[in-house]
Amino acid sequence: MLEVARAEGVFFYTPEGKRYYDLVSGVSVNNVGHANPAVVSAVQRQAADYMHIMVYGEMVERPQVQYARQMAELLPEPLDSVYFVNSGSEAVEGALKLAKRYTGRHKMLSMHCAYHGSNHGSLSMMASPEGDTWKAPFQPLLPNVEYLWFNNFEDVQRIDEATACVLVEPVQGEAGVIPPKEGYLQALRKRCDETGTILIFDEIQTGMGRTGSLFAMQKYGVTPDIVCLAKAFGGGMPLGAFISSKEIMDSLQSNPVLGHITTFGGHPVCCAAGLAALNYIIDNDLVKDVERKGKRYEDALKDAPHVLEIRRSGLLMAVELGTSDKLFKMMSLFKEHGIMSDWFLFCDTAFRISPPLTISDEEIDDSCRIILECLSTMDR
Ligand code: PMP
Repeated sequence: MLEVARAEGVFFYTPEGKRYYDLVSGVSVNNVGHANPAVVSAVQRQAADYMHIMVYGEMVERPQVQYARQMAELLPEPLDSVYFVNSGSEAVEGALKLAKRYTGRHKMLSMHCAYHGSNHGSLSMMASPEGDTWKAPFQPLLPNVEYLWFNNFEDVQRIDEATACVLVEPVQGEAGVIPPKEGYLQALRKRCDETGTILIFDEIQTGMGRTGSLFAMQKYGVTPDIVCLAKAFGGGMPLGAFISSKEIMDSLQSNPVLGHITTFGGHPVCCAAGLAALNYIIDNDLVKDVERKGKRYEDALKDAPHVLEIRRSGLLMAVELGTSDKLFKMMSLFKEHGIMSDWFLFCDTAFRISPPLTISDEEIDDSCRIILECLSTMDR
């Protein structure tokens, strides 16, 4: 187990001063790099002004209002109504409740090999390839949940007039980075429109520039009815949101009057941090280089020994080695040589490369040099 003494940019350091490339970014959290001065000073300023005052939505708290306004401007229409929460799981929870409340339906669909969080609601939407191992100890979970195969066009027809919502990651993350096939998200959108079903995108891992657009929905050209955000959305602080049109969101305001209550959701310090991170992404035009940087990794590693395949969307990458034995050997070599990587919840044969989006070309080349060294040491 490594102890972290401090972190800066794309690196973290142990108390002994050993340096590690962070190629995980806290699982797609630290998009603007560790200890980003813009985020640190926003946190310090807001903490000094005020922290928690009252349950979210009861009063005007400037960081929430500014961040919500900024999101409404950046997201495609009609996604202009932001509900702040504490985490990714809570964002999914809110989105599921909203879809049920708006449609009056109960049946919910998600995808095999999807991960959406760990509370009862989001866990119900998870279907791991190992069967029910993750869920069995916690049954009964939500009823009326069924699973489609991601990228399977025939399965799309299983969306029907009884379906409240379809929950999908536009790029499956914990499945081991599976981008959507051409036209697949469009087919989901079309079938949801035909049946009056709410399409929910989980952009908790893909949001805030990770795939080479500010949001993956823009990269793939499909707008959902609800989008869930968290991770990088908080700039390193705990923050999530489910975002919809005003018309849909308003249904949480009656019967009962408070459809979702959260004490700390939209904490002013977290909103200030998230907004500072977002502004840093925009002011420094970080998104425009993401695809090029991802390709630089891909080109450097695709013909390396033991690498079978690289699956990628922007700077969200899985390097496939084919067996978990090889993967675990790489993990220990990485640890020795100063690289922090990880595997995926539902794919333990590939390692992850998802560095802060601020990574420089020199840092990419240097981290690739170490990765290549580790790959060639594997046979020794
Ligand atoms: N959705 C996706 C796609 C995720 O990757 C995660 C976290 N790994 C979650 C939801 C859950 O987020 P949290 O851990 O903040 O509850």
